[in-house]
Amino acid sequence: MNSFSFNEEVSEFRTSRQLKQRRRKRKGKQNDDSPKRKLEEVEVQYSIEPKTKKSKKNKKSKISAGETLAVETNDAENGGEDESVRDGHVVVTGKNIKDEKYAPTKTFCASGLPKEVLECCKSFEKPSPIQSRAWPFLLNGRDLIGIAATGSGKTLAFGIPAMMHVLSKRKSKASKGRNPLCLVLSPTRELAQQISDVMCDAGRSCGVESVCLYGGTSKGPQISSLKSGIDIVIGTPGRIKDLIEMGVCSLKEVSFVVLDEADRMLDMGFEQAVRSILGQTCSVRQMVMFSATWPLPVHQLAQEFMDPNPVKVVVGSEDLAANHDVMQIVEVLDDRSRDKRLVALLEKYHKSQRNRVLVFVLYKLEATRVEKMLHQGGWKVVSIHGDKAQYERTKALSLFKNGSCPLMIATDVAARGLDIPDVEVVINYSFPLTTEDYVHRIGRTGRAGKKGVSHTFFTQQNKGLAGELVNVLREANQIVPDALLKFGTHVKKKESKLYGAHFKEITADAPKSKKITFDDSDED
Ligand code: AMP
Repeated sequence: MNSFSFNEEVSEFRTSRQLKQRRRKRKGKQNDDSPKRKLEEVEVQYSIEPKTKKSKKNKKSKISAGETLAVETNDAENGGEDESVRDGHVVVTGKNIKDEKYAPTKTFCASGLPKEVLECCKSFEKPSPIQSRAWPFLLNGRDLIGIAATGSGKTLAFGIPAMMHVLSKRKSKASKGRNPLCLVLSPTRELAQQISDVMCDAGRSCGVESVCLYGGTSKGPQISSLKSGIDIVIGTPGRIKDLIEMGVCSLKEVSFVVLDEADRMLDMGFEQAVRSILGQTCSVRQMVMFSATWPLPVHQLAQEFMDPNPVKVVVGSEDLAANHDVMQIVEVLDDRSRDKRLVALLEKYHKSQRNRVLVFVLYKLEATRVEKMLHQGGWKVVSIHGDKAQYERTKALSLFKNGSCPLMIATDVAARGLDIPDVEVVINYSFPLTTEDYVHRIGRTGRAGKKGVSHTFFTQQNKGLAGELVNVLREANQIVPDALLKFGTHVKKKESKLYGAHFKEITADAPKSKKITFDDSDED
């Protein structure tokens, strides 16, 4: 039970929603006219046919991922068009995906994976949807694009095949003093650390060792780990590139590569570093790309570095959609009234000072200023942003996670990827640069089947994103304030050559994330 008056808030919200629905009914509209419902009505199983490029011959040789599993035949050479399969809220697209060997892994037992590899899953009932669909493809050596949010179990979706890859390679070579065989690239240090925690834990029972390489900390221990021989390298592009240039990190034997949060990686200006790092890995490699959204620059990266026929697994929607367990409140206000309003909201949502509340701001300086303002007002608060030393970031996050300081100010460094339990409220003090980031930010609450609240300040400066925000609110059946509608509802949609209108881009008049110096741009 939330410590602020969640029920009161929900009933207040419901009452006004009911009023709205009644008004709509009077106008002769149905309640079920949301775009999502309409889509569900017209969608027929297996009928989704994304526009994809004409198939090229797959010249790349494949890598067997594990002895227990069959080696894949060259699917592209079998010709044929892409197929699409819908399984609940998961859509799989690609060539030969209906082949029996790619049937979803329904149970851990049916996976055929060794016991010691599955040890890390022993507290789980069954593979999560992304694991169930991704494992058969990855274990059979296929390149894969995963569109799935953090919390869906995606780390083990690529992590277990990565460990199987290492085990199978080690078995055939039995080398010691070894070079890494797998690489996982993450846009932020915190996400890299989180992946590394999962991989270290999972690798313990099967003897697969991982190291996390990220900036802001001393290189010494990272170099020692690399020298002692490591199987999987997880890290942020800047530090990995540094260590390669120093000659202490060799990726020449890496034949399994994961790009996690690929869209964020490009947003943060890591494109060149990513290209240069990928250039250091084996030319014959298996590529996995996870991304929460699928904008054009990510398509291009995928086209360049992946097999021409990757499998695509989409969990949920590729379109921009917010978690429906989050009640979204949007308040249009004047820039200068935000401090006062924030304090009032904290008095409402964080009265007990024991429940987790995450306040998002846009810039590092803004984070420092808001933190200071709240400190002066007697609030116990920590912050996480790119101007802080890594040990301060790690400390702030752990105080927030363990509940010692459940109020945290964060820039978008914390918007993606982090699996923070029980965040009850997200307050967007500043609206993010893209609506995608808005969806990710508010996705920090309402996790694991719980309800959450997001409260967002929207100002005149953000008007270019009003149309997209209205769509996100409507899709989730949330209240759209009249003041927001006044900014207009125009959304310009770009089309991708490869995927047509399958993806959402930011509005033409909205600031493009690339042009702005992101808070994490100094992430290495
Ligand atoms: P992600 O960040 O997407 O890797 O998701 C991580 C969360 O999902 C963690 O809390 C895991 O404990 C949980 N998780 C991973 N696999 C499963 C599974 N098969 N069943 C239930 N929870 C899982």
